[in-house]
Amino acid sequence: MNNKLYGNLIFELSHAGRKGYSLPKNEFGNYNIPTSIRRNSDANLPECDELTVTRHYTNHSGNNFGVDNGFYPLGSCTMKYNPAINEEIATMPQFTHLHPLQPASTCQGALKICQELRKALSEIAGLADFTLNPFAGAHGELTGLMIIRSYHESRGDSKRTKVIVPDSAHGTNPASAAVCGLDIVEVKSTANGIVDIDNLKALLDGSIAAMMMTNPNTLGLFEQQIPEIAQLVHDCGGLMYYDGANLNPMLGVCRPGDMGFDVMHINLHKTFSTPHGGGGPGSGPVGVRKGLEKFLPDNSDISVGPYHGNFGVIMKAYAYILSLGKEHIKQVGPLSTLNANYIKESLKDIYELPIKGLCKHEFVFNGLADKSTGITTMDVAKRLLDYGYHAPTIYFPLLFHEAMMIEPTENESKGTLDGFITVMRKIADEAKNEPDLLKTAPHNTPIGRVDDVLAAKHPIVTYKQLQSES
Ligand SMILES: *Cc1c(COP(=O)(O)O)cnc(C)c1O
Repeated sequence: MNNKLYGNLIFELSHAGRKGYSLPKNEFGNYNIPTSIRRNSDANLPECDELTVTRHYTNHSGNNFGVDNGFYPLGSCTMKYNPAINEEIATMPQFTHLHPLQPASTCQGALKICQELRKALSEIAGLADFTLNPFAGAHGELTGLMIIRSYHESRGDSKRTKVIVPDSAHGTNPASAAVCGLDIVEVKSTANGIVDIDNLKALLDGSIAAMMMTNPNTLGLFEQQIPEIAQLVHDCGGLMYYDGANLNPMLGVCRPGDMGFDVMHINLHKTFSTPHGGGGPGSGPVGVRKGLEKFLPDNSDISVGPYHGNFGVIMKAYAYILSLGKEHIKQVGPLSTLNANYIKESLKDIYELPIKGLCKHEFVFNGLADKSTGITTMDVAKRLLDYGYHAPTIYFPLLFHEAMMIEPTENESKGTLDGFITVMRKIADEAKNEPDLLKTAPHNTPIGRVDDVLAAKHPIVTYKQLQSES
């Protein structure tokens, strides 16, 4: 890589008068733009030749890290398997050229795909029907909670203003409940990392609209007492909400509907083949059990496009489910569970494992086992970058101070997992023998250790700002 070129902003490569384009001859004449909306001076645009522009952006793009570059063991919001063929199918012009206001009679194929995906998701989840409308997991949570509220209102019950959320839940759960105007009640986890039933019992009364749960939970643990929990919540008149953002460990193995859940969302962009770095694109379909279908958003009189959700993501999920098929989809859960347990067991002697035993698709370490080195989870995560790995999710869930949440996913080979294990052991050695190396990592990336707080609180995102600060 040309590092000299990389270090620059395109503005810094500018030379007055240089051009990388030529416009066709103006055949339309000049139009008078009203002076009130005209600029007073020329825009400060970079002036560069074509190759400088091409190399500048190509070199920058080489600094991206994704599942196509290397191992990406990020827990919870994981990039799972995203076969490129599904991208190709989703970008077929027959789909991408559809217009959202096109008459339904002219896009029957796309509508059929939506319909069939709803059926497939219903089958996978053990529920009656799905809406594909929501554009993200959090959007699905909000939709689901609004469905639950409509259900209670339809029974003339307006006193249910609270939602129970476990302390291990993903942050969007309480956030969605708050946006929906509901109050959040936190239920504690036991020392084993699952919902504390005694604590739950004390919270249940006629003001509970729903309980939100993730299973396997964000510690990667299967909540074994779900039938009892569902019974308790139902007995007090509340509904059970399932956060199915990461459904891969469950596919074809067990179904939220069979466990007693009434409403759920699935993140198609995590579980069903859509790369989603940088905040998008997403899709969070919401499913309901029999009897609640009438509270789903009504799409009957509209065509495709945004009204039916994020069609490109829907298309990829559909292609992925069909290419796996009923038989192979059942291998996703066991393989993701096997891979997570393999890494956990191979490293638990040198990284602190706060919750022992079998995990599902992901698990949490609480930093290095040897706390005397002063090396933090942040240092380990930064050092991993030097070895060409994406860092795991760190400092989440909040239950442990040095949390490191690792999810290898189902499609990684044993060789890849062994490579990661070797590097994690090497870093533990470095923590003992060369701690300064870790404290100042990363060393091999284009940008070294950044001040996270400063970068988050005072991001410099425009060139103008940079100029005025220097
Ligand atoms: C990612 C995630 C969400 C939120 O999904 P978004 O699409 O990011 O809004 C909710 N719950 C869990 C467990 C998640 O991993």
